[in-house]
Amino acid sequence: MTRQCKFDGNLFCFFLPTRKKKPLPHCTHCQSPTSQPFNQSFAKECNLANTPVLNCYICALNKLRKIMMNQEIDNKLTSRNIKPTTMRELVLKVLTEQKSAISLPELEQKFEKADKTTLYRTLKTFEENKLIHSIDDGTGSIKYALCKETCQCHPEDLHVHFLCAKCQQTYCLTDIQIPQINLPSKFQLQSVNMVVKGVCSNCEK
Ligand SMILES: [Zn+2]
Ligand SMILES: [Zn+2]
Ligand SMILES: [Zn+2]
Repeated sequence: MTRQCKFDGNLFCFFLPTRKKKPLPHCTHCQSPTSQPFNQSFAKECNLANTPVLNCYICALNKLRKIMMNQEIDNKLTSRNIKPTTMRELVLKVLTEQKSAISLPELEQKFEKADKTTLYRTLKTFEENKLIHSIDDGTGSIKYALCKETCQCHPEDLHVHFLCAKCQQTYCLTDIQIPQINLPSKFQLQSVNMVVKGVCSNCEK
């Protein structure tokens, strides 16, 4: 049997008590009876002790998963010398969930209440610190995608981008490096923008 936690929407399984000698503890977090009462020593161990509303093991695990995910986001920011703020955390979370590159107007749609200048500045900070790179795919709007952990955005770090003619999504083909370009003498390479066009695997179906 599954129930949905009213707090975080996560589904979890639980077992209804067969013998009602002792009432099973209810999770004050999701109001579901659970056969796995939340254990206080587990709470202390995992820094969940300050969340007294939790007494269900599964809700606690969900909470822990969320904390860990936020920590991962913060680690990504600090590894690029970016001070974590709520806005930056949220934007990075959205970028991490993206399968294709995202433009500023698309990002704005996901943050209806946020100030547009703040969103733009967040992207610029990310780009300056090489957490993301910008892509000019020729559609007229600049798109942004996460960089690989080791990326320094040097010409040797660059990869090919793929623009789908049907869905207009732009994908990072991080496994395909830009071929070496032999420039005439005294010409200096600064950047390469290689966009391949076609139909993506989603649209091919
Ligand atoms: Zn990069
Ligand atoms: Zn497509
Ligand atoms: Zn890319």
